[in-house]
Amino acid sequence: MRDFECVRCGNCCRWPGCVKVSGSEIDAIAAFLEMDESEFIERYTALMPDRQGLTLVEKPDGSCIFLEEDEEGGSRCRIHPVKPFQCGTFPQKWNFPGWELECAGAKRVKRNTGDRQ
Ligand code: SF4
Ligand code: SF4
Repeated sequence: MRDFECVRCGNCCRWPGCVKVSGSEIDAIAAFLEMDESEFIERYTALMPDRQGLTLVEKPDGSCIFLEEDEEGGSRCRIHPVKPFQCGTFPQKWNFPGWELECAGAKRVKRNTGDRQ
């Protein structure tokens, strides 16, 4: 999608689904949180369904454990400076059918350009 810009609505962090974390990402996030790596793994990760790595755990509502919501309806990623590669590459490098319906950045492009995208 041309002219796409993330407007930080946080919806992609609210959708249930795996957020894969590599070993080096775990090291970086644990250091950022000033935690021991093994403690971080135990507290914040789970085995991927295909058992081929680790994913960040979700809150009961399916949103990412590191998504913080404020009372004004805003949201922020608690680990933004060291968030996993998967987070920073959505939606330009990967996405899934129907993502545009929830992504505020995609909706903005559609509003500005009609359905020419
Ligand atoms: S790590 Fe941050 S950017 Fe990635 S899904 Fe969680 S809250 Fe969103
Ligand atoms: S859903 Fe789209 S606009 Fe919202 S935070 Fe994710 S990428 Fe950015």
